[in-house]
Amino acid sequence: MPIKLTYKLTNAKLKKAVQRANEILATEDLPRVINTRATPFDESEPSTLPASAVADYLKNSQLSLTVCHYTNPKSSIGGMFTTTTPKRIHANRKAVPIRHYCNLARMLVHEAIHALSYNIREASFSHCSGHSPSTHSGTAPYWIQNALKPLCPGVRDDDLIEVELLDNAASLRGRNIRCG
Ligand SMILES: [Zn+2]
Repeated sequence: MPIKLTYKLTNAKLKKAVQRANEILATEDLPRVINTRATPFDESEPSTLPASAVADYLKNSQLSLTVCHYTNPKSSIGGMFTTTTPKRIHANRKAVPIRHYCNLARMLVHEAIHALSYNIREASFSHCSGHSPSTHSGTAPYWIQNALKPLCPGVRDDDLIEVELLDNAASLRGRNIRCG
């Protein structure tokens, strides 16, 4: 069973994005795309972890994630994953209105890869610091998000939407998280 995203709130665009992300996560296309990566993803631990292992983790995952809203004033930040609540992924209220739903879906897949990496524990294929697409483009979350561009045909490329990775409760203050 692939990763399953659940969204309980009412934003129509995010609802559509979640639906699209679930379709992407459920197809054989995603492991196939990941398997085209010949070398381990940057920052993976162990460093010898092949991309195909990430594809297998994804295929065999039982992970169920809730999609929540949160606020980062920077609209360039699409979403957020935090180890404080590892069964949730978050979409930025400031980004949702200005992004195409298909690009939001790719951003949700990026966050789901963080969640998968954190929840399996025995290997890591997140990126460890910062949230810059330019410096982290070889990591699993960004590389996969980027490789999914062809699944959004005709959609203007608004680049890799940045995703925040937060690892402590203090950094969540004032983010107005709502899950349903
Ligand atoms: Zn990330």
